This record gives sequence, structure tokens and C-alpha cells, in this order.
Amino acid sequence: MNALDVSDLSFAYGARQALNQVGFSLAPGRFAALLGPNGAGKSTLIALLTRLYDLQRGEIRVGGHSMREHPRPALKQLGVVFQQSTLDLDLSVEQNLRYHAALHGLSRRQSGQRVDAELARQGLSERRGERVRELNGGHRRRVEIARALLHEPRLLLLDEATVGLDPASRLALNQHLRNLCREQQLSVLWTTHLLDEVLPSDDLLILHQGRLVASGQAAALSLEHGGDLGAAFNRLTTVGATR
Ligand code: ADP
Ligand code: MG
Repeated sequence: MNALDVSDLSFAYGARQALNQVGFSLAPGRFAALLGPNGAGKSTLIALLTRLYDLQRGEIRVGGHSMREHPRPALKQLGVVFQQSTLDLDLSVEQNLRYHAALHGLSRRQSGQRVDAELARQGLSERRGERVRELNGGHRRRVEIARALLHEPRLLLLDEATVGLDPASRLALNQHLRNLCREQQLSVLWTTHLLDEVLPSDDLLILHQGRLVASGQAAALSLEHGGDLGAAFNRLTTVGATR
């Protein structure tokens, strides 16, 4: 059973086509990088995956559950970290998480256990009482990841999670997500416009002007393109480029 299956997904904002017949699958425990320049359609895809927008055309299945026909079980398996942070800066780390756990319908007891477990996993236990405003960008993102994992989803979506972080924090966060994948059999869809956040073992999806112009294991795609993924990415995502 795949963590995610997307087929024939198209979406338009009025006359503006933002996604065009996008299709791919993600297996359990895999880290997939969704790479595309600004305007490629990454956030639109995340909005459809999280049901912020209704589907216009195509199908999304999360853990086999159709987003169109059975949105509740599909959404239950999803955790999401949006491009713009949605933490309350004046609440403590723990308060932000507790609030979210309550929204998910967790009991006080359950929520206490889940908050403890996720804070420990994100290396944030010591910071639980600090106001989010006092944390650096990398730690704020970790709080968001902890929050997204409270209800124990099988698939975590992150939309440009490293924007605004310094290089060291960027690398640390990227590594951290790979560890979660490996250790928890969590699947991750990591959107970025930065090729240096992709490792050879990742699944790689390249989006350009709403179309998936390449998909496969990053190492295999690199081989297909003469060992130079950077050059391939530039070629595939040049404005006006077609398959
Ligand atoms: P990315 O996240 O890859 O930068 P987006 O999904 O935000 O790309 O945008 C894809 C395309 O859809 C862009 O051309 C963008 O201008 C357009 N777009 C995004 N959001 C809206 C919106 N709310 N209304 C109209 N057009 C939009
Ligand atoms: Mg975006």
C-alpha cells in the first residue's frame, strides 16, 4: 500500500493553469523531494493534498483512502507543515502543541503523552516552556514538525520548510527528517526550490510550470542526465522548456 498516490491531477485558478496532469506515488518510509522553481505549483499541490482546495480533476489517495470519497481517513494519515509558519509566537512551545492536540480530539492524558514523545523526538524537551518568539528559525520549524506529528500521521508534507533558515539549520532540518523516515517508516514529501537539499537516495519529483517533468530516484535521474542533476534541473525548468 502506497503512502500517497496522485493521478492525473490538474488545477486552475480561473484561467491560470497551476497543475497539469500530475501523477506520482510515494512508498512507505520514503523521502521524496518535490523540487521546482517559484511558481511551479508546489504550494498548490500541497493545498490539494491537504484539501484546502477542492479537487477539480484527478485523484489523490493517502494510504489507499480516496481524498474525494473518504476525506476523513485520508486526512487523518496526513501531517503538514505549511510554507508560512502558523505558530502562536506568544504561546510556549508546549501550549502550541497542547492546543493543536485538543483540536485533534486527543484527551488531556493522551495529549500529554504525545506532546512529551514528540518534543523528545525533535530534541525540544528542554525548551517546552519557552515562548516560540524566543526560538531560532530552525527550532520553530521543529516545533511545527512536532505539532504535525502529534496525531501520528503516516505521511508528512512540508512546504519549503527551510526558507529563511541559515545553511547549518537547513542541513540539520533536512537530516532530521530523513532520520524520522528511516526510524519511523514515515513518508515525507519535502518541497523545495533548492537542489542541494536532495540526496541520491531520495525520490525526486521535478515540477515546472505545473507539469511533472521528471520523477524517479534521484541517483537514477542523475545517471540519465549524464551525472549532472544540476544541469538537468536547469534545463528541465528553463522557462519554455518542454519534455
Ligand atoms: P510554488 O509554490 O511552486 O511557488 P504556487 O503553487 O504557489 O507555486 O503557484 C503556482 C502558480 O499558480 C503560479 O503561477 C501562481 O502565480 C499561481 N497562483 C498561486 N496561488 C494563486 C491564487 N490564489 N490565485 C491565482 N493564482 C495563483
Ligand atoms: Mg510555494
